[in-house]
Amino acid sequence: MRRPLVAGNWKMHGTRTSVAELLSGLLDACRNCRAEVAVMPSLVHLEQVFQALEGSEVVLGAQNCAVEPGQGALTGEVSASQLLDFSCTYVLVGHSERRQLLGEDDQQVVRKFSAVQSCGITPILCVGETLAERESDQTLNVVLGQVSAVLDALGVQAFSRAVVAYEPVWAIGTGLTATADQAQQVHAAIRQHVAAFDADVAEKLRILYGGSVKSTNAVELFAMPDIDGGLVGGASLNADEFGAICRAAGN
Ligand code: PEP
Repeated sequence: MRRPLVAGNWKMHGTRTSVAELLSGLLDACRNCRAEVAVMPSLVHLEQVFQALEGSEVVLGAQNCAVEPGQGALTGEVSASQLLDFSCTYVLVGHSERRQLLGEDDQQVVRKFSAVQSCGITPILCVGETLAERESDQTLNVVLGQVSAVLDALGVQAFSRAVVAYEPVWAIGTGLTATADQAQQVHAAIRQHVAAFDADVAEKLRILYGGSVKSTNAVELFAMPDIDGGLVGGASLNADEFGAICRAAGN
């Protein structure tokens, strides 16, 4: 039985004041949630959120890290070992905003995935197709290709300590959501793809859906057999809305 996970990706949002308000609402809204709940603040708020989460069941994550796990001369970057110092449980790797806008390629994604795992943190590997790729029937080629980049480089056992997030690029921050059937089809394909290498790893692998998840569509999405929770951007900035999504995942 896979415990659902809902992760809030706060992206480049927030001030110390707004983060404090969001946290107090969120800790209330997520109390006694059956799903595991994670929040991923901007790095400048990591210390603040780390302290606020102490004693709660909500866990901390980061949105990115350097390709090398250890500290070193790499101006502006943050390493996975530094994130471990804040007890980060998860780190996103390969978010589409980084792939599309910052030119992050599969090779860098693999290095980050490996850096995160080498520090004992769980990577959340983000995969997803653009609208043009969906319209030209390339969805599975693209998504399974992104999964294969990690599988080929690190082997299937790497997925026993990882989470995958299917996030169609056209659904991120646009208000457009994949239908529950569209999402389920891709989630099932990812699981089958991993199962071809190791059925047990595939069965235990949590695959999250991301892309304009809201309280109004969460129940239907999370009811699908291969959708194990969500990666939530915009809606995670509203404590009540995020709480409702977390409860939907726990039902
Ligand atoms: C995301 O950034 O991972 C995301 C899914 O964003 P949104 O929920 O705003 O579409």
